[in-house]
Amino acid sequence: MSKTSPSAPGLHVDSLLAHGGGGYDRATGAVVPPIPTATTFVRDEAYELRDPGHLYSRDDNALFLKTEKLIAELEGGTESRLFASGMAAIAAVARTVKPGGTLLVQSRIYWGTTLFLRKLCARNNVALIEAEAGDLQVFLDEISVTKPDLVWLEVPSNPFLEVADIRNIATRCKEMGAVLCVDATAATPLILKPLSLGADMVMHSATKTLNGHSDLLGGVVTTADADSEAWAFIREERKLAGAVLGSFETWLLLRGLRTLSLRVERMNANTRALAEFLHAHPKVETVLYPGLSSHPQHDLAESMMTGGFGSLLSVLVKGRKEEALKVAGALDLFQRATSLGGTESLVEHRFTIEGESSGIPENLLRISVGIEHIDDQISDFDQALSEI
Ligand SMILES: *Cc1c(COP(=O)(O)O)cnc(C)c1O
Repeated sequence: MSKTSPSAPGLHVDSLLAHGGGGYDRATGAVVPPIPTATTFVRDEAYELRDPGHLYSRDDNALFLKTEKLIAELEGGTESRLFASGMAAIAAVARTVKPGGTLLVQSRIYWGTTLFLRKLCARNNVALIEAEAGDLQVFLDEISVTKPDLVWLEVPSNPFLEVADIRNIATRCKEMGAVLCVDATAATPLILKPLSLGADMVMHSATKTLNGHSDLLGGVVTTADADSEAWAFIREERKLAGAVLGSFETWLLLRGLRTLSLRVERMNANTRALAEFLHAHPKVETVLYPGLSSHPQHDLAESMMTGGFGSLLSVLVKGRKEEALKVAGALDLFQRATSLGGTESLVEHRFTIEGESSGIPENLLRISVGIEHIDDQISDFDQALSEI
């Protein structure tokens, strides 16, 4: 049999990624897979499926499988499932908690997650406990006392860039029989592998750096144990509830993944340099970025992350809301838009979105650092900060 793909063992992930998971199209030899457009698949005269793997495209298709296999490989997991968005992936995991159960979520994380979990848990009679993960002992005690079914962490957190101690939290979760899922969107699997630190599952909004081009919505969950009860539920949930990713989006995602390692490398280097520049700037009060030695969890971040600290950072400018908005308004290269992880740099004033009650400081600007030249990024912030 001829070798159809660069096989995983021994290859660096960069190589796997560059080949989009490897393998050419069997029918034509094309180096890029076709986009499967059929929703249904025929049976033969004896009513057997022509291909047992293909029945109806809400279940599965060859492109999902290829992309999921590549992501599972990146995460060091056993199986992945793609979803129609990051939120659809979060919803599938959160719904593993049955009525009467308990869900413990880290507070001060992605606003959409917090908002959704509050509504879902209230509707489904699930006790929702929100706790800060910055103080490890407090969070561990919370797990022991509340005995949650599911613990949800976000590392690093968005927009505060807090870094939870996955290793110790995973150990306590195992002792207490809780499932631990980590949203590692802001890190990417190249930097942070929660499964290797003991988490049961890892989730990403593929909308962000995995795809990296701000042109699709997608989500993915990967498990360490494909035989677990929670995973069986998630697998079934995707098929039955039907929050599948479209074939075209899957194809775009796989194309985006081909350059993931290059993009992450550049974004990481840029973010570090920009963080250092901002940290030293007289108009800046604080920079939130785990790569700075001034970050309260810098050593912890260093012990869990490899090759960088991600491309997300937040900055508290000196002054109030007016000054923050003035800086955001004066930026030229950094586009004023939500989201993160694209090739283009973005800036967002989260206070405007989430409001007073969210606890977001009014002078905070969240920055997603893209792949532009670092000198242009720095000079854009330099001129914008000179406006206040
Ligand atoms: C964007 C984001 C999500 C939600 O993903 P969507 O693809 O927008 O549904 C979840 N978690 C984090 C950390 C995010 O940045």
